[in-house]
Amino acid sequence: MADASKPPLEILLCAPRGFCAGVDRAIQIVELALQRFGAPVYVRHEIVHNRYVVDGLREKGAVFVEELDEIPDDGQPVVFSAHGVPKSVPEDARAREMFFLDATCPLVSKVHKEAQIHFKRDREIVLIGHAGHPEVIGTMGQLPDGSVTLIETVADARAFTPKNPEQLAFITQTTLSVDDTSAIVKVLTERFPAITAPHKEDICYATTNRQEAVKRIAGDVDAMIVVGAPNSSNSQRLREVAEREGCAVSVLIQRASDIDWSQLGDIRRVGVTAGASAPEILVEEVIDAFAARYAVSVEVVRNAEETIAFNLPRELRLPAAE
Ligand code: SF4
Repeated sequence: MADASKPPLEILLCAPRGFCAGVDRAIQIVELALQRFGAPVYVRHEIVHNRYVVDGLREKGAVFVEELDEIPDDGQPVVFSAHGVPKSVPEDARAREMFFLDATCPLVSKVHKEAQIHFKRDREIVLIGHAGHPEVIGTMGQLPDGSVTLIETVADARAFTPKNPEQLAFITQTTLSVDDTSAIVKVLTERFPAITAPHKEDICYATTNRQEAVKRIAGDVDAMIVVGAPNSSNSQRLREVAEREGCAVSVLIQRASDIDWSQLGDIRRVGVTAGASAPEILVEEVIDAFAARYAVSVEVVRNAEETIAFNLPRELRLPAAE
């Protein structure tokens, strides 16, 4: 029954939201490695961009490092994050005879393979992405320095001068804004009609579905809450998408305690979603925080069904050694 002492609030809950198949797999890899091989399990970089997830795994015995040289030769596994790593990382691990498990999302690995194929075919490669993001570092690191040119904006695409416009290809980061990327691709294809495009979109299904779900409701809500980390590319893009679709207040928060209630003002309807690395428990926490202040009703607004799941690395599928 509605609580008459609280103002009413409709929550439109985007679906799909939160964990994608690649994040789910990466977390499972660390958890299974801990079960099978015991602590410590080393993890190079944040396994996924979420503090709650990282802290939870740390409590179970995961040890997060920036580089392999921080890891002792103790035979314990090291896991590479879902964002992918430059080729030099597994090479170094092999040289040190380290036991490593690669949690790179298969959809990121697919982009790595595209880059390698273009390189073999002597194509100059353009990567559309954000400088400094681990996925971009990993993808550029599949090939020798200087083989890939990073393009971040439409202005970059306009200014780019290829060596040979007839031998050109582009690939993209998987977690970009669908709209920004198509604007950049439009400039590239207009300027260089012979450019080779990915066979199938590099922006992944999870990024696309979450952005579409936000677009569907952003114009109908007074505020949009995106649960996710500030360094999570796909979460940042969700916040931007809502803003561009005309939502007056669009905020990215890590947890319910980050909500700035004064910023929300007089709201009647709020949209809630979560980036691909944000666990559902944090979404529930946000809904509970609203329920403490408002008489909430929750409606799920779904734009796609997701059934995709990825296989675990072979080492974790085998029965445990006696
Ligand atoms: S966001 Fe997409 S590319 Fe990144 S881990 Fe999830 S499914 Fe893979």
